[in-house]
Amino acid sequence: QQAQLIQSEKMASLGQMVAGVAHEINTPLGYANSNVEIVRDSLQGLEEQLDADTRGEFDMLLADAQYGLEQISELVLSLKDFSRVDRSQTELFDVNDGLDTSLKICHNQLKDRVSIEREYAELPKISCAPSQLNQVFLNLINNASQAIDGAGTITIKTELENERVLIRVRDTGCGMDEETRAHIFEPFFTTKPIGEGTGLGLSIVFRIIEDHGGEISVASKKGEGTEFLISLPVASQSATNKKASAVLIDDSVE
Ligand code: ADP
Repeated sequence: QQAQLIQSEKMASLGQMVAGVAHEINTPLGYANSNVEIVRDSLQGLEEQLDADTRGEFDMLLADAQYGLEQISELVLSLKDFSRVDRSQTELFDVNDGLDTSLKICHNQLKDRVSIEREYAELPKISCAPSQLNQVFLNLINNASQAIDGAGTITIKTELENERVLIRVRDTGCGMDEETRAHIFEPFFTTKPIGEGTGLGLSIVFRIIEDHGGEISVASKKGEGTEFLISLPVASQSATNKKASAVLIDDSVE
């Protein structure tokens, strides 16, 4: 399970890196493309002055350059697709169910040591990529469990407030000082020994919550514990209706 978590962190950070590379390639690609256009246009104006061989050679060189640039454009498009894979699979999602699923996955790691308290409110669904939200919950629960040395409690609470779903994950673990707390959402920031933490978990959590129009904050006291608070918008009525009619169409096909 730890390995799975590390793997999904690697995949998510690879996605982030690939998106960054694609973005960086786009700018020079843009001006290389427009330079080729300019040279092509200028050559047409020079037709009289060039002999046929030279012109033929220039045309071939330009065609070659353009072909290469088109290939790079295609590569950039597929890199963008790759880094977006998960994001496009949006579904209506029950946050309480998602939390329970994540708790089940962590059960073995928690069972004898950490007690779990759940205070769930009745919630409307949210619109999200389920695998991403589950990754958020797994990361927070995993961190909470690692922060608890010996016995302790993780309390998970959900609420509905002003059309937003609030999720609190609180632990009675080691807590953080102000200096640590200021850096936790940065990629590769970790206080854990090598091999135990990648420092990517919370930066990925942060990005996923941001991608879903949500917010995340943290309150922590050294020696007392930590509480993460996530707020996410509930699914719009139109998203809920669309899903319902899609189900109706499916039924009529069967
Ligand atoms: P990692 O867990 O691999 O170190 P994260 O990005 O998930 O990476 O966390 C970064 C750091 O934030 C941790 O190394 C730890 O210092 C701190 N942290 C995260 N969650 C908690 C928590 N529940 N209690 C105390 N410290 C935490």
